[in-house]
Amino acid sequence: MLAAKIKATLRDVPNFPKPGIIFKDITPILKDPALCGEITSALVLQLNGIKIDVVAGIESRGFLFGLALAQALDVPFVPIRKAGKLPYKTIQQSYELEYGSATLEVHEDAFGAGLQVLIHDDLLATGGTVVAASQLVEQLGAQVAGYSFLISLGFLNGKERLSSFSEDVYSLVD
Ligand code: IMP
Repeated sequence: MLAAKIKATLRDVPNFPKPGIIFKDITPILKDPALCGEITSALVLQLNGIKIDVVAGIESRGFLFGLALAQALDVPFVPIRKAGKLPYKTIQQSYELEYGSATLEVHEDAFGAGLQVLIHDDLLATGGTVVAASQLVEQLGAQVAGYSFLISLGFLNGKERLSSFSEDVYSLVD
């Protein structure tokens, strides 16, 4: 089972980035090319053939499988980045974190109006990051086709939060 293999390969790092947090480190997965290939295929399969025009990956771990997924679907890839990193003209969306706030940006010409955009990240926790990403998609007149993750942390209720937006949420491991 792929989910079991992903779980067994992930590394739990206690107290990162701060005390009390157990960080799910995906870097051991990246060292296994066969597993990476299986993950990319499974990310495609779990979409059940829904229409996707663009994959948008969130900095930085959302770039890793986001680009692979876009290539497998034969659609463009768009990076959504933290503030100040993208070189061309951008639009911004701020969102609240547990302590303070953060801002995501995307190039203003990233999505054409009306396109169906799949938002991809490595991991879903509270959902705050991908909600901000979906607001960027909508600011440009495009639509969120769904949310794709390797891992969803059930105890933080991110899936419930996203399901209130009526788009589908896809994850390989819960
Ligand atoms: P959320 O906004 O609370 O859903 O947090 C999700 C964001 O935080 C994603 O961009 C993840 O990459 C990152 N993140 C949070 N916890 C972890 C973790 O344990 N491992 C890897 N990334 C994490």
